[in-house]
Parts: sequence; structure tokens; C-alpha cells
Amino acid sequence: MEDCVFCNIKKTKKFIIENKWAFAVKDSYPVTKGHTLIISKRHESDFFNLPEEEKTEALKLVVKMKERLLLKDANIDGFNIGINIGRASGQTVPHVHIHIIPRRRGDCKDPTGGVRGVIPEKQAY
Ligand code: 5GP
Ligand code: ZN
Repeated sequence: MEDCVFCNIKKTKKFIIENKWAFAVKDSYPVTKGHTLIISKRHESDFFNLPEEEKTEALKLVVKMKERLLLKDANIDGFNIGINIGRASGQTVPHVHIHIIPRRRGDCKDPTGGVRGVIPEKQAY
């Protein structure tokens, strides 16, 4: 798709790692140092609509990227991984991508609940 930001990244072939169906790049506006996106090679907006093999390959790249991040940065204490699906969820780029967000102790005031923070007032419980 010509006007898709992630399809255009795919054309550059400048990836951190890749496999048959997905590639990894740094997020341009990282939440934390090392925030990485695993992006599907095929243009599709909804993760659930990817064929099984493409979902699996994208998730394999999540695991590989996590290992790579840990090797590069000894200060990483945890991760959040997440996929926004649909505008109601907050998805801004309608091309499948999985966020990998490294976490370090003390990187925010209170991390309790992690991804529950998609609804900020419900994060802690
Ligand atoms: P979404 O809200 O759709 O789940 O996330 C889109 C992500 O893409 C955001 O975290 C944003 O920082 C990232 N992003 C937006 N434009 C670009 C870009 O041109 N290059 C890269 N590498 N990341 C981008
Ligand atoms: Zn696209």
C-alpha cells in the first residue's frame, strides 16, 4: 500500500531482524529505550486476520527480538508486549505491528497492572 508508513519501511529493507512474514524496526517515538515494533510484511490492519503462519512468524520474531534486547542491555528487568487492534483500542497505524517495550525498575512511578493501563483509571487494582 503506497501511503502506508509501514509498507514504506518494508520497501527500505532496513530491518533489525526479519523472517519470511515479519520484520523488526525501532519505534520512532519510543516509550522506553529499545521499544521495538514487529511488523507484518503483508499489509493487513488486524492481527487476528493474519493467516496462522503469519501470526506465528510474527510471534517468533517477538521472542528473537526479546533475546537480542536482553543481550544488548543488562538493565532490562521486564517487558510489555502489546498489539492495538482497531481505532477503539488506540491503533494509529492500520498495518499489523506488535510493540515490544523493555521495562526497567523505576522507569515509572508505579508500574502495577502494566498493560491494564490501556484504561488508565483501571491500571492498578
Ligand atoms: P499504534 O498506535 O498503531 O499501535 O502504534 C504505532 C506506532 O508506530 C507508534 O508507537 C509510533 O511511535 C510508531 N511509528 C509511527 N510512525 C513511525 C515511523 O515512521 N517509523 C517507525 N519506526 N515507527 C513509527
Ligand atoms: Zn501497510
